[in-house]
Amino acid sequence: MKVAVVGTGYVGLVTGVVLADMGNQVIGVDNDPSKLAQLRAGISPIYEPGLEEVLKRTIQEGNITFTDSIAEAVEQSEVVFIAVGTPPAADGSPDLSAVKSVACSIASGIRSYTVVVNKSTVPVGSGGLVEGIIRDAGVPEDLFDVVSNPEFLREGSAIRDTLEADRIVIGAKRREAAMKLVELYAPLERPMHITDLASAELIKYASNSFLAMKISFINAISRICELCGADVGDVAKGVAADKRISPLFLQPGLGWGGSCFPKDVQGLLRVSQDFGYDFKLLAEVIEINESQTANFMDRLSKRLGGFSGKHIAVMGLAFKPNTDDIRYAKSLAIIERVLGEGGTVRAYDPVAAANVREIHPDIEYASHVYEVAEGADALILVTEWNEFKQVDLVRLRETMRQPILFDGRRIYSAATAVKAGLEYHSIGVASSVPAQ
Ligand code: NAD
Repeated sequence: MKVAVVGTGYVGLVTGVVLADMGNQVIGVDNDPSKLAQLRAGISPIYEPGLEEVLKRTIQEGNITFTDSIAEAVEQSEVVFIAVGTPPAADGSPDLSAVKSVACSIASGIRSYTVVVNKSTVPVGSGGLVEGIIRDAGVPEDLFDVVSNPEFLREGSAIRDTLEADRIVIGAKRREAAMKLVELYAPLERPMHITDLASAELIKYASNSFLAMKISFINAISRICELCGADVGDVAKGVAADKRISPLFLQPGLGWGGSCFPKDVQGLLRVSQDFGYDFKLLAEVIEINESQTANFMDRLSKRLGGFSGKHIAVMGLAFKPNTDDIRYAKSLAIIERVLGEGGTVRAYDPVAAANVREIHPDIEYASHVYEVAEGADALILVTEWNEFKQVDLVRLRETMRQPILFDGRRIYSAATAVKAGLEYHSIGVASSVPAQ
């Protein structure tokens, strides 16, 4: 099938190369010239395991090309995906300006029947908005359909998630339009959930908000554990053993970040308000998430007697492992808190340091993990990269001014840290101090 994907970010590029690898003719469209130059050279502008390999292969096989012209790509395509960003605006509602401008350009390229697919995460009603823009641009109603096909991939395992999706959600007004996507995705042999536009749009928001709620819930339990002396690790394990609950997204830690959960939980809260429902539970889910990092940093500040004049090592900057994405990463809030209260920071991340350097040229960056803690008054583990799980804690401790470890993701055991001569502080568990 001939397919165009507008927006070659995490979602658009992965979707484009996977569809191209299935033998479709794909045109990737972006308005960022430097991205296009990299893509044409077979270089992935983002870090995503396995992505560059599929990109190179599909370019060589002639199944994917890249352009900056939406109209040109649409003219040659039966199905056009919109996969541009929908970041939160100042009031928390999703900024749909990129979606609207792309819809306008799509309209100018439609020559024959085209299925326009909204893959960006958008509020309920956005399908109608895109349809209205294309219709108002003079495209006859029988020449196009708008379909909602929300994306559920996770950065870090995006290719596998696309190939092995739990479900493919397709929301459409007309059955024929939905069937076009069923045909496109059929070779993946995944369960397809076909519904109306509004339901498809809401499925995405509801799914992400539910997962964020699970994390906030266990993080709230972690706070109770800190107050009453229970261990949240044991509590989570006991709770998760119930099949109705499951251990997924029940790991206590610094809270959720990234480009999706913060924006989508805010988005659903906003959409609910717009439709006249006060979704108080979601407001609390957000509040717990924000206070989780603040509480962790309060504990560290108390231990150090404030951050002024203190040097803090930050291990991990990406919002989660296996990605270079730092959008709403907890590392940023942590760095800003230390700097704001007069401390200094040295940070290390296997892939995300360059992205943080653009925001914080004012901190030091270690070139490998054993440099990060040199002269530090405390070491904070922020992102649970596998490389950090294997790290030699004795070697790290030997470089520190004060042997204090704050483990924000509970990746070390208190016993291991204490054996390495470190004071161990974590989430939802009593602190452990080496014997004098
Ligand atoms: P992204 O920022 O990585 O990529 C968006 C791309 O669109 C960029 O390359 C940008 O240059 C391009 N773009 C923006 N405006 C354009 C225009 N007018 N014309 C052409 N190209 C344009 O975003 P992303 O992370 O891929 O997210 C895209 C959408 O998918 C968002 O709505 C997001 O919420 C949703 N989503 C993201 C993920 C994820 O894990 N990243 C998962 C599921 C859903």
